[in-house]
Amino acid sequence: MGHAKRNKLVFTEKDKCRVCFTCVRECPVKAIKIINGQAEVLSERCIGCGNCVSVCSQKAKVVLDLKSEVEILLQTKEAPVFALLAPSFPAEFTDINDYRILTGMLRKLGFEKVFDVAFGADLVARKYNQLLEDNSEQTYISSDCPAVVFYVEHFHPDLVNRIAPIVSPMVATARLIKETYGNNVKTVFIGPCFAKKAESDEIDVALTFKELRELFAKYSINESEVEAGEFDGPESAMGSIFPVTRGLSQNLKKNDNIAEGNVIVDSGKHNFKEAIKEFERGEISNYNLELLCCEGCILGPGMSEKNKYFFKRSQISKYVKEKMNKIDIQKWNENISKYNHLDLSQTFSPLDRRISDPEQEEIQQVLARMGKIKTSDYLNCGACGYETCYEHAISVVQGYAESEMCLPYTIEKLHKYVDDLNDSNEKLKNTKLALKHSEKLANMGQISAGIAHELNNPLGVITMYSNIILDELKSEDPLRKDVALIVEQAHRCKGIVSGLLNFARKNKIKVQEVDIVEFLQHSLNSVVIPANIKTSVNSGISDPFLMIDPDQMIQVFTNIEKNAIEAMPEGGEINIFINGDDKHVEINICDTGSGIPEENMDKLFTPFFTTKEIGKGTGLGLPLVYGIIKMHSGKISVKSNSNPKMGPTGTEFKITLPRIN
Ligand code: ADP
Ligand code: MG
Repeated sequence: MGHAKRNKLVFTEKDKCRVCFTCVRECPVKAIKIINGQAEVLSERCIGCGNCVSVCSQKAKVVLDLKSEVEILLQTKEAPVFALLAPSFPAEFTDINDYRILTGMLRKLGFEKVFDVAFGADLVARKYNQLLEDNSEQTYISSDCPAVVFYVEHFHPDLVNRIAPIVSPMVATARLIKETYGNNVKTVFIGPCFAKKAESDEIDVALTFKELRELFAKYSINESEVEAGEFDGPESAMGSIFPVTRGLSQNLKKNDNIAEGNVIVDSGKHNFKEAIKEFERGEISNYNLELLCCEGCILGPGMSEKNKYFFKRSQISKYVKEKMNKIDIQKWNENISKYNHLDLSQTFSPLDRRISDPEQEEIQQVLARMGKIKTSDYLNCGACGYETCYEHAISVVQGYAESEMCLPYTIEKLHKYVDDLNDSNEKLKNTKLALKHSEKLANMGQISAGIAHELNNPLGVITMYSNIILDELKSEDPLRKDVALIVEQAHRCKGIVSGLLNFARKNKIKVQEVDIVEFLQHSLNSVVIPANIKTSVNSGISDPFLMIDPDQMIQVFTNIEKNAIEAMPEGGEINIFINGDDKHVEINICDTGSGIPEENMDKLFTPFFTTKEIGKGTGLGLPLVYGIIKMHSGKISVKSNSNPKMGPTGTEFKITLPRIN
């Protein structure tokens, strides 16, 4: 062992991956990266533990399938093909009552001989005993789990000389076979493990139990039609408990009892890593470590059923008990002595896959992006698959993880999106309303322009002739009063017509530079302000100059101010605020008057809408204001409250004008 036989063990089926990050979270060595929206396995980091395959509910992770290689070996019959059955088989084939039937099925599939790898485990156990006795001052990490060995080689390369220099039971069995039957024999290991497929060149193919079942199904091999038979090769003893956690130490009778022993036995994807880290730091370096990456090989990813740990364990116990009851110990001892000379040594070399930590600044940037600024922001909830937010951020910088894997961050982002979406919807609603409104006003404008145009000429004639008649009448003429009224009313009509023309934007503007603060003060001076009304002009801008048509714009402000005065018969305040930036000036004209009822709000700019009595209001003030503001490419909006229950009543007109027209 020491060099992975095959490069890639696990693949992603692209169209099935839904990027849920579960595999990224569950991978104990962070060997999965999101590339182009797909969770890809990085083969150079992968230790073949199979966690990603087991946790993917979409079945998007598939393991290297070697069935066809085995089929070719069995069909071409160029060399005898031997099956090496892993000791965990009683936990897999719980549906087959007798192991002799299973060996029969394997023979029917085409295997010439079937070997029990548990005898390899018996041999290996002896070598461990010897190793520990010969080197009592040295401690080791057991080498029986290939995923653990890959982990040490890749991520703790300084510890490779602490991996017990002994082969796995699989390789021990292969060496026994080669010695007995020659190198021509082909060996196929069958077990619960993915990592075995990459463990050693001394095995031709490694299959999983799941793949074996698929072959049985393909060739319709079932238990009822086979000839039962014993294993070929030496019979095993306690090596059969190898696949259960504590298998090796029980076999060795080494004590992992806290008070006396110097063996630490553990399993599972978190604990094996932790034990190795502590071992490297020297905290438990005087203990031998017996570690399995899975919770015992009986929960290996190549088992067809991933649950029922205790049932599987009981099946192993039952099998071992039965075997130990009938075992011919003398024969077994003879076999052990017979193969004692076998060289079961193995060396390991470092395959460093560690990546140095990125710069602090980069890590802090990622943390800040995920909203982790204060110590209290570091929830370390583990939802991302990393123990701490800090470790997660390192992986994000290295490109192995995504910020979106942080659940609190993603939820917060989602909330913000929902809020933003609500905001945009609200804006859209308002824009739609405004659009409808301006469409209506545009229609009104067209009609008004038509009427105004038609009225202008006859009105001119009436004004001219009534003035001529008035001039010709003597001062004491009784008709003079009536003609004067005609002149006055004709003038009024002209005023209305010119208001309509303004609204319809038929007039042009003549802009010049104006100091808007002074201009607004001047507008207030141009209207008669009753003594009970206070006014103020408040400027919040440094540059008060902008380009407007002062003759037109004065009508805008005086109209709004007059309306405000008329809405405050009992007195009140008119406060004008001027703000803006280098592109726009914003003017807010606020009064403390009666306010505008909700139902009138969308009629304000419609010509002839007035709530004032006949003779007092024409309803042309605000349409004129609207027309002039539009001519200046500006915007106007109104906010008002007429209900004292909702707070102080009053109205605020907001006008935004570009500085340059
Ligand atoms: P008019 O002043 O001739 O009625 P306007 O177009 O100037 O016409 O105003 C239309 C209507 O809008 C007014 O009749 C009034 O009901 C309402 N209005 C405008 N400004 C205010 C204000 N500041 N406070 C209360 N109501 C207002
Ligand atoms: Mg008015």
